[in-house]
Amino acid sequence: MTPPAYIGRLAPTPTGLLHAGHAATFRTVHERARAAGGRLILRIEDIDPLRCKPEFASACLEDLTWLGITWDEGPVRQSERRTVFLDAWTRLRAGGFIYPSPHSRRDVELAAQAPHEEEPVFPVEWRQPATESLPWKTPAGVNWRFRVPDGEAISFHDGRVGAVELVAGRDFGDFVVWRRDDVPAYELAVVADDIAMSITEVVRGEDLLVSTARQLLLYRALGATPPKFYHGPLLRDTAGRRLAKRDAALSLRALREAGLTPEAVLDSFGSAPHVAENPRI
Ligand code: GLU
Repeated sequence: MTPPAYIGRLAPTPTGLLHAGHAATFRTVHERARAAGGRLILRIEDIDPLRCKPEFASACLEDLTWLGITWDEGPVRQSERRTVFLDAWTRLRAGGFIYPSPHSRRDVELAAQAPHEEEPVFPVEWRQPATESLPWKTPAGVNWRFRVPDGEAISFHDGRVGAVELVAGRDFGDFVVWRRDDVPAYELAVVADDIAMSITEVVRGEDLLVSTARQLLLYRALGATPPKFYHGPLLRDTAGRRLAKRDAALSLRALREAGLTPEAVLDSFGSAPHVAENPRI
């Protein structure tokens, strides 16, 4: 049987201006799709109406074009795809995989002993029973969490990092799939869309390796075959800090206005070694 033709996606979140880290990731997405003779879909992940702004989405299209990145389909906007996400929520609920949770991310952070860069593990004692038999018509009004199989090792092969193994309940806990304010959470939206768009390889930054383990559980619960994964390195500034959208001076826009070429932008940052970044993986 011939494998399905390569379909990749560029998936920016328009909460700020793109920086050199995004440039590196999107260049990799583009190169891998072109090298495979595949198709690329541009998907704007503007699902969160509080944080996403249309002006960042248009700036992003401009920056991608400046980087020499082309796409074959889109832009497709997640804000217009609620039915795809609602269908996934309905199926997860019917399968007894998710439950309504009164606890917010903030509660989980407050309950954790020490400050975490990653989201701390959700305490099991806060877990609620699934409610597949109760008449919830819409997800609004409460956080919906996916119940992870405690102690199960979730392993996968990453195209760059190699073998990755994370343990459910230790490295990550029950996670939100739909927010109280009626916004689908990132993990659910990305999986539902990657399935709906028949994505064959997900290329993104290695800060999302733990998310991939969560997402593999969603693929299984939804009865879908996961794509391949390739997690690129994160770029660092000269002080060794991960680049973030808050560093406005390092935005692609500012660097371009300062006269830099895309190549010069990419050459001026170092990438951190993977092992130091994620000692547990
Ligand atoms: N939209 C996400 C981001 O900008 C990437 C999601 C993904 O590639 O799965 O970080």
